[in-house]
Amino acid sequence: MPEIRDVIVIGSGPAGLTAAIYAARANLHPLLIEGGQPGGQLMITSDIENFPGFQEPLAGPELMARMRAQAERVGADIVTADVTEVDFSRRPFKVWVGRTEYQGRTVILSTGASARWLGLESETRLMGRGVSACATCDGFFFKNKNVVVVGGGDTAMEEALYLSKIVGTIVIVHRRQALRASKVMQERAFHGDKIAFAWNSEIAEILGENKVEAVRLRDTRTGELRDLPCDGVFVAIGHKPNTELFARWIELDEQGYVKTIPGTTRTNVEGIYAAGDMQDKIYRQAVTAAGTGCMAALEAERLLATEEALETSAK
Ligand code: NDP
Repeated sequence: MPEIRDVIVIGSGPAGLTAAIYAARANLHPLLIEGGQPGGQLMITSDIENFPGFQEPLAGPELMARMRAQAERVGADIVTADVTEVDFSRRPFKVWVGRTEYQGRTVILSTGASARWLGLESETRLMGRGVSACATCDGFFFKNKNVVVVGGGDTAMEEALYLSKIVGTIVIVHRRQALRASKVMQERAFHGDKIAFAWNSEIAEILGENKVEAVRLRDTRTGELRDLPCDGVFVAIGHKPNTELFARWIELDEQGYVKTIPGTTRTNVEGIYAAGDMQDKIYRQAVTAAGTGCMAALEAERLLATEEALETSAK
């Protein structure tokens, strides 16, 4: 029989690592299953300047390496592999990595979300060299420069509005003639003085050898191509929460994000908590993810302490 852990944390972005740090310091000996490609979205972020406590810019992978080392130092056990299956029907909960089974009295889910990408070779090649999916992370590096934002939803409008305080010009590239974004966000974007629109356009290619120099736009009606010079491309065509593995047990909203009880990280299953971007489609910041990771560990600790007290009094 596998050993029953007090806490199993699945996922190793800022939410999972913070949860592991708090759980370890509460003497809960957490097992952190960090995934085959650990660290989450910050692993593709070049410089972080908005994580409090770091005066100088810090590379995303460096911040994640420090968080991981901290989690290990305070006593978290780490498994580097992807969870392949879970069974949350009863406690202890079961979590499998291939054929290896782990059991946990509580489980903290923090598998994050993945930005949707256009799927171009040039996009992958120029990622972190002008291509980004996060204006709050990377906008600062485009001071007075010319950027393109791709997408027609609320995220694209929000990214464009945020960037308009920093960059020189913005062109929102949208594949249709009408935006999907809410009316209020549309209005704000239409009134943004630096914001122009390229309607009925999609990005056929991002041009540039080692940095972004232009985008090649294709007219979605005529197929006509034209090049638009720019220094940066912000892809804002939505995010996808990484929740498929848990959908059978955990209540998700219509977009696939985990539903948590407001003001908590509790899910519909007692003892299962969700932290970070898999349950947050609004803020999506490293620091807010870390905050909810902390909440999840504190909530797991309280549940275990309450149960232990009940068991003791029943004896
Ligand atoms: P959405 O799914 O709402 O919008 C995605 C946009 O990207 C659409 O305009 C879509 O085009 C376009 N798109 C999708 N795939 C491609 C592609 N391959 N190539 C080009 N364009 C593409 O995602 P969002 O992230 O904008 O929003 C997600 C949710 O979060 C929404 O419910 C939104 O309201 C909410 N949100 C709310 C905010 C707020 O209230 N402040 C801020 C951010 C998000 P098309 O329209 O043609 O399908």
